[in-house]
Amino acid sequence: MKDVAIIGLGCAGYTAAVYTARYKLDTVIVGEVEGGMGMSAADVGNWPGEIEIAGPDLMQKYKDHALSYDNVNLVSGRVEKVDQIDGGFSLVMQNGDTIEAKTVIFATGSNKRHLGLPGEEEFSGKGVSYCATCDAFFYRDKTVAVLGGGDSAVEGAAIAAQVAKTVYLVHRRDEFRAEPFWVDKVNEKDNIEFVLNTNAVEILGDQKVTGLKLDTPFNGSDTLDVDGVFIEVGSIPAIDLPKQMGCELDDRGHLQVDAAMRTNIKGVFAAGDVSSGSNHFAQFATAAGEGAVAANSVFSFLQGGE
Ligand code: NAP
Repeated sequence: MKDVAIIGLGCAGYTAAVYTARYKLDTVIVGEVEGGMGMSAADVGNWPGEIEIAGPDLMQKYKDHALSYDNVNLVSGRVEKVDQIDGGFSLVMQNGDTIEAKTVIFATGSNKRHLGLPGEEEFSGKGVSYCATCDAFFYRDKTVAVLGGGDSAVEGAAIAAQVAKTVYLVHRRDEFRAEPFWVDKVNEKDNIEFVLNTNAVEILGDQKVTGLKLDTPFNGSDTLDVDGVFIEVGSIPAIDLPKQMGCELDDRGHLQVDAAMRTNIKGVFAAGDVSSGSNHFAQFATAAGEGAVAANSVFSFLQGGE
């Protein structure tokens, strides 16, 4: 039986692994999607020590760091279920394998929110994408719409504008919640058009996306002619596994943790975007901090603490 199983291969999970490794705990880190949400960050400018680094490069550094310790073992695959067993927990993998550990840290992150618009599912992968920074590159000299007003949408619009001919940034309000750093970037671009106080109501297409229907006319038309639509309207915490086990959620649907990143189940901890920690401020720096705290709490727990 391992000392700790960390579920999730993102910033919180890898940071937790670095710390549990240095506490000399026998650690397994398990996950399906390498790098998590960090892979979709184009230019990370708020990770201290790196003035600017691409998300995938930063994720590779986290991984290399965690795996530099002999007592950290990475298992690739999907965890289907976590059962409570005598003295700990059993992770049941999709391939039928099981992994036993005395403690668990959920660092499962979040998944992109879908809007459920007519045409959205039909054209997913045929012009509809949930990651502007990953897919904008396919739209060189084309016209795209980015939906949303948070960091992902505004950063995504700025990145898309580097290659696309025209970018419509469609937001339901008239102000952005994104970092002013990114708002300045989109204001500087002359190929970004702001479509504010407007909701998208339908994605139009034939074999692939051809347009976006709006609830409010823009320049006299309720349809934007676009080749691609990037839906960047936030994310939903990946709570299925801990919820199945009986972990409590907060009123925003995140895993409820205390200041030590403990959930309501003894021996189960959480860190990163899935948790209620850091005032829901989902950043590399906060995910790393929560991962470190969760690892410290695992160490105390295994020494007989709470
Ligand atoms: P977010 O901050 O939750 O913003 C979601 C945006 O989508 C909001 O502008 C929201 O509008 C809009 N929205 C939500 N539901 C909608 C709906 N049904 N219809 C239309 N619009 C809708 O999500 P995010 O931008 O993906 O960011 C998630 C977290 O990751 C944040 O903590 C963010 O700071 C972090 N992040 C950081 C960076 C960075 O630091 N560079 C980059 C990416 C993400 P309202 O504004 O009206 O609510």
